[in-house]
Amino acid sequence: MGSMGPATEKPHAVCLPYPAQGHITPMLNVAELLHARGFHVTFVNTEYNHARLVRSRGLAAVAGLPGFRFATIPDGLPPSDDDDVTQDIPALCKSTTETCLGPFRSLLARLNDPAAGHPPVTCVVSDVVMGFSMEAANELGLTYVQLWTASAISYLGYRHYRLLIGRGIVPLKGSTCRAADERIPYTPVEGVPGLRSMRLRDFPSFIRTTDPDEYIVHYVLRETERTAGASAVILNSFPDLEGEAVEAMEALGLPKVYTLGPLPLLALEEPPRPRSAINLSLWKEQEECLQWLEGREPGSVVYVNFGSITVMTSAQMVEFAWGLAQSRKQFLWIVRRDLVRGDAAVLPEEFLAETAGRGLMASWCPQQEVLDHPAVGAFLTHSGWNSALESLCGGVPVISWPFFADQQTNCRYQCNEWGVGMEIDNNVQCDAVTELITEIMEGEKGKGMRKRAAEWKESAVKAAMPGGSSHRNFDGLVRDVLLPKN
Ligand code: UDP
Repeated sequence: MGSMGPATEKPHAVCLPYPAQGHITPMLNVAELLHARGFHVTFVNTEYNHARLVRSRGLAAVAGLPGFRFATIPDGLPPSDDDDVTQDIPALCKSTTETCLGPFRSLLARLNDPAAGHPPVTCVVSDVVMGFSMEAANELGLTYVQLWTASAISYLGYRHYRLLIGRGIVPLKGSTCRAADERIPYTPVEGVPGLRSMRLRDFPSFIRTTDPDEYIVHYVLRETERTAGASAVILNSFPDLEGEAVEAMEALGLPKVYTLGPLPLLALEEPPRPRSAINLSLWKEQEECLQWLEGREPGSVVYVNFGSITVMTSAQMVEFAWGLAQSRKQFLWIVRRDLVRGDAAVLPEEFLAETAGRGLMASWCPQQEVLDHPAVGAFLTHSGWNSALESLCGGVPVISWPFFADQQTNCRYQCNEWGVGMEIDNNVQCDAVTELITEIMEGEKGKGMRKRAAEWKESAVKAAMPGGSSHRNFDGLVRDVLLPKN
């Protein structure tokens, strides 16, 4: 250990998330758990996100939490003060990789300055896809742990890219391309270690490419392969759900993988800690969503939310709208301002008139609380990993319309392995949406999925409560990896 303070000093963890919502939230969960275990924590946001959080959430309020501090580094993108935009993920991947190492190195130096008024840094917990940080941590001899915020199955999907190349399956040929999901073949791909009954279309979108020289392909391969150099990997999952995939990850030569999921449920003691004092939601949550759910019949509402990054065409949005209208069900639909590609999201007047009184549209909600609400009967989702886990924690079955990255793989497992989901074709049609909503809300298949979802909820709670695997793993991670050895 390079910069350890006297034995009486607290250990100091620097937590570095990738700067998008689905990465910030699970890293915050880890940071708060470490804080509860006595670590001094520095949580690193990008300057853009920090300014956005301060403006929309009054982040300054948490600056007073003893031993939990925020710091910032620039993300390398042109400045913007628009607080209601969907982040450009490929651009952010490139800019963080190419520009963030220097500022992160300087930040560590500033944090280690004895005049800084807090203990010297003892460990870095970094997102896997912020792997540049490994170099800065190694230079200072700091313990270095990575957090993979997506599923274990999708990690394997990325890592088996070379296997798919070797078999001549990728790069895809002819007119297929990543953006046009409906043309990706259903061809089964057998014998992929740790993965079950996969088809080509179920692999993460980034590697289903016609162009192996694309930036994003190199990026995901480099970042996922670099994980081998960390001292441990944290995973937001649990063995009942992904045990086989976790073993297959370790078999790839990774350090020990600590499953701590579902992170929002992981409680260090009984009764569970109250909901976090810190909220790092990049959009302002509309609390009226919860009020609207109050008093509605149990299981009567379809909740629709495609997360923070998904975009669609206005034609696709209209298909979803009429699918919902025709189902005659009540719905809560979250529509970000720029959910529709290159346009403001506007729905037809006839749709709004037709569904008045039984539908609420909002721009962002406290999702976990919505999914925990008894009125919610089904979740129409893009199958982002946090959303997938949050729906299991709420015992809610899903209709899945995967967009990109790991979502295709998550959707496959939700539908085929975990028994909690049904997939919507990429080329979404309103009649298919209506049919799936009717089935999930009223049909026998829906009943079966609801039962499975309730069983998964039980198993998730068991993993995260004292005595459960995630709870034990957290103790092990702190004791064996993160605490400085004297
Ligand atoms: N989320 C939220 N309110 C919303 C939409 C999303 O709080 O209206 C949260 C959601 O609970 C989840 C995260 O944003 O924790 C989205 O992460 P996910 O992995 O599901 O998808 P991504 O946004 O990365 O595609």
